[in-house]
Amino acid sequence: MLKQQRELFFGLIRIHVLVHASHEPIFGLAMMEELRHHGYRIGPGTLYPLLHGLERSGLLNSALKNVEGRNRRVYRITAVGKKALEKARTKVDELHHELHEEPPRKISALNDTPEAD
Ligand SMILES: [Zn+2]
Repeated sequence: MLKQQRELFFGLIRIHVLVHASHEPIFGLAMMEELRHHGYRIGPGTLYPLLHGLERSGLLNSALKNVEGRNRRVYRITAVGKKALEKARTKVDELHHELHEEPPRKISALNDTPEAD
C-alpha cells in the first residue's frame, strides 16, 4: 500500500476487519489473506498493531487458540464492536451514496468559475 494512502485506507481496513470478526473468529494470517483478496497489501507489521489497537479500544477481544496445529491469537468481536460496526454501516452507506448515486450537496457558496487575478 502506498504510504500516502495508508492513513486514508486504515479506517476502511478496520471496518473490514470488524465485518469479518462479526461473522466468525479471525486470526491475523487469514485476515491478511482476505485483505489481500480485496486489494489491500498489508503485512504483519501493520496488521498486528491494527488488531491490537482494536482490542485496546474494546472492539475485539482475543484468546490464544490452537488452529490446525498452530497457536494463533484468535479475535472475536465484542458487543461494543458490534455497536460500532452498526454505526459504521450507516456511515459507509452514506458515503457510498455520495460516491455512486447522488453527488454531494453543495456546502459552500463558492462557485466553480476560476477566480480572476
Ligand atoms: Zn472481506
